[in-house]
Amino acid sequence: MTSTKLQAPRGTSDVLPEDAERRRQLGGRSAELLGRAGYRPVETPVLEDTELFARGVGESTDIVQKEMFTFEDKGGRSLTLRPEGTAGVCRAYVEHGMHKLPQPVKLWYSGPFFRHEAPQAGRYRQFAQVGAEALGSNDPSIDAELILLLADLLAGAGVRGVRLRLSSLGNAATRRRYGAELRAYLGARESELSEQVRARIDQNPLRAFDSDDPGTRAAMEDAPRLLDRLEPDDAEHFAAVRELLDGAGLAYELDPTLVRGLDYYTRTVFEFESVELGAQRGVGGGGRYDGLVEEVGGPPTPGVGWAAGIERILLAAEPAVAAARWPARAYVVLAHADGRGEAFRLVRALRAAGAAAEMEQTGRSLKGQLRQAARTGATHAVIVGEALEVRDMDSGEQRPVAGVQEAVRAVIG
Ligand code: AMP
Repeated sequence: MTSTKLQAPRGTSDVLPEDAERRRQLGGRSAELLGRAGYRPVETPVLEDTELFARGVGESTDIVQKEMFTFEDKGGRSLTLRPEGTAGVCRAYVEHGMHKLPQPVKLWYSGPFFRHEAPQAGRYRQFAQVGAEALGSNDPSIDAELILLLADLLAGAGVRGVRLRLSSLGNAATRRRYGAELRAYLGARESELSEQVRARIDQNPLRAFDSDDPGTRAAMEDAPRLLDRLEPDDAEHFAAVRELLDGAGLAYELDPTLVRGLDYYTRTVFEFESVELGAQRGVGGGGRYDGLVEEVGGPPTPGVGWAAGIERILLAAEPAVAAARWPARAYVVLAHADGRGEAFRLVRALRAAGAAAEMEQTGRSLKGQLRQAARTGATHAVIVGEALEVRDMDSGEQRPVAGVQEAVRAVIG
């Protein structure tokens, strides 16, 4: 009887070694870059109480309304696979009293996230993000620092065709007033708008700015812009962020129509895109969320951060140049049936000395073993036969060595 072949669930995929290695390299670079800027790693659970996202991300967002993997545990509690990282980091900040530490508290994370979206290129139901958050300061230099760190991360990863869009949303009251103004504007020009935009005037009037419909686009040209409605201190904050970015020489486009899919943003918002990607071109984005810590039960605490999609970074990046991670790589060839014990000691000695080393473990012929040595990228084959010999895989030169230590020296060079 043969069983049906099983596959990974829709929208998820296995990360095979080549990609997994690229992802780890990116992880290493992120740790280095963010660590140098004072960000420390944090890990929060993949499962959270559903309420965290309902409160944090916002009941009215697409994420909470349509995209969460939510289920009841055996105790009847509603749990959700995290769709994003900021709410969990804020919960952890409050739960562990991090507001009592010297501020700002700077944290970074990476790991899997889950959204029940229609899968397509660059959009998955399980995806990985790297993210950074700074809690406890409303200084514009933190906004600018974080934006520059993400720019550096993308540049370091070799992401091509990067564009940065930047805006400010002001505070919640400004947004509410602006929402009413925009709804009134759209209401007055309803006949010029597309069916789709008309249907969402009440729910999400900002979407009108994203429309491709020519009538809607024309009608939106004179629409009021949130950036022109900012209160003086929010406008000043935004001007300071821009001045720091200008000083750092980072190019950006001011985009007053930038809307992000999460409710918690205040003031600065930004999104990095890559023109290399198709429809799903956002590689990373974020902004300030000055009310979120309070929303999840903490004291009023400003915060700002970003998250970037690891799959999309790698899709938009130049193919990685494989870095030599070990000074040498050896393949131990068994030319003698009794050689296994010696070969086993050899690979352990080679690895302890810093080389990469493998031994023959499937019973190939001598010729087959040398072919396998070449396939693994070995610089040397160590041949365990009547005598012990080391072969330089490039030149083909082969010479006898007296014992394990001499063989190790011959490989390491
Ligand atoms: P967001 O939290 O929606 O701002 O997402 C931040 C980044 O995560 C995006 O810019 C994408 O790079 C990535 N991302 C979000 N959703 C998905 C998804 N469904 N599949 C792959 N990457 C995603």
